[in-house]
Amino acid sequence: MTQLQSLRGMVDLLPQALQRWQAVEAEARAHFQRSGFGEIRTPLMEPTDLFCRGIGEATDVVGKEMYTFNDRGERSCTLRPEGTASVVRSALQHGLLTQGPQKLWYAGPMFRYERPQAGRQRQFHQIGVEWLGASNARSDVEVIALAWDFLASLGVGGLELQLNSLGSADDRKGYRTALVAWLEQIAEQLDEDSRARLSTNPLRILDSKNKATQALLESAPTLIDALSSESRTRFDLVQQGLTTLGIPFCLNPRLVRGLDYYCHTAFEITSDQLGAQATVCGGGRYDGLVSQLGGADTPAVGWALGLERLLLVLEAAAKADPVGRAAQVVTAPKPDAYLVNRGAQAEGAALALARALRSQGLTVELDSSGAAFGKQFKRADRCGARFALVLGDEEAGRGEVLIKPLLEKGDEATWAIDAISAMVDVLQSR
Ligand code: ATP
Ligand code: MG
Repeated sequence: MTQLQSLRGMVDLLPQALQRWQAVEAEARAHFQRSGFGEIRTPLMEPTDLFCRGIGEATDVVGKEMYTFNDRGERSCTLRPEGTASVVRSALQHGLLTQGPQKLWYAGPMFRYERPQAGRQRQFHQIGVEWLGASNARSDVEVIALAWDFLASLGVGGLELQLNSLGSADDRKGYRTALVAWLEQIAEQLDEDSRARLSTNPLRILDSKNKATQALLESAPTLIDALSSESRTRFDLVQQGLTTLGIPFCLNPRLVRGLDYYCHTAFEITSDQLGAQATVCGGGRYDGLVSQLGGADTPAVGWALGLERLLLVLEAAAKADPVGRAAQVVTAPKPDAYLVNRGAQAEGAALALARALRSQGLTVELDSSGAAFGKQFKRADRCGARFALVLGDEEAGRGEVLIKPLLEKGDEATWAIDAISAMVDVLQSR
């Protein structure tokens, strides 16, 4: 029988990798909590209509990338391709917005039928924040700072914050007409994808990955020039706010973001470590979405970052600086003690001792191989434990255990096997 495999683009997370994931998630959780964001968890599957209405039919995500199928009751269901539409749906469904603005964050798997490659999967994971009911430029700045500071707290370097303003819906309507007129003159020179977008989603052409198209676009009219004076003032305030906080950014007039619901501030944080899939985090303002999904007019701003890409960047940073912050984050914590044990009586006593120490919060690796002492000691060294606890039948017979420091200098010492709290003090002493 052939070995069953996971679906293409759907990746298993094994214990070693998961330890790094959990470290990043724990950092995120603490970071958001400090800023007053509460966690929200929404279902992985939603009615298809939510994304068609929320993201927009003309986007790549809805047009080409969704996992959509009918359930047994003939309802069209979709595995969520992103988190924002679901968060808004949930906030509306539970009347959260009647209680005032909501600061929410989420983490979890998303699904997009894309061509798998480094940093691009079909099931991938995002961490995101949504601030519903926030309208002023200061909230844009705070939300961007939240992303920037989170990445900085992980010790990730080589990041660039790219910023643009998409203006209001009216600004974009005027710009769209001007852009289409300009693009139509050079339509034959555009790549096939971009030509198809001319009638469906012309703004997305700006963010084409095709090199020839990119070169042509150098002289295209820019959105910045089409902004109304209110939109321009707003954009200035966002830039001033970032400058005041000392967060560096560069303006990218071609940054448009893939989803339809963005307006005004759009941003991406890219890394020089990721090659073609350079964007770690993307977001911006989406004032129209809540009303589009049936709620009252509610301004909002947020972002999402890709965890797989963040981990690639973190691992690169850890490699470049093995003692830096990123290395600390990705390095698995070492056990406090490795319990070397051999012999019928010793093995029983060892399990009881491991249990007692673990119940006091220590991490104890219990060797269960019954192998020769030398082999067990090698494993103790390899796992990086600070101490070896040694228990042979002789020690067990005397009701004792030997504690031997492995990483630091110091003498080995014998302890009564039931002197748990004294042993805990030794094992935790620094
Ligand atoms: P891209 O242009 O790379 O396709 P996007 O604009 O479609 O990105 P968003 O919808 O803004 O991405 O999602 C936010 C972040 O989620 C991205 O910046 C990226 O880090 C991550 N991401 C998006 N799609 C994938 C994927 N298929 N695999 C892994 N990560 C992804
Ligand atoms: Mg995409």
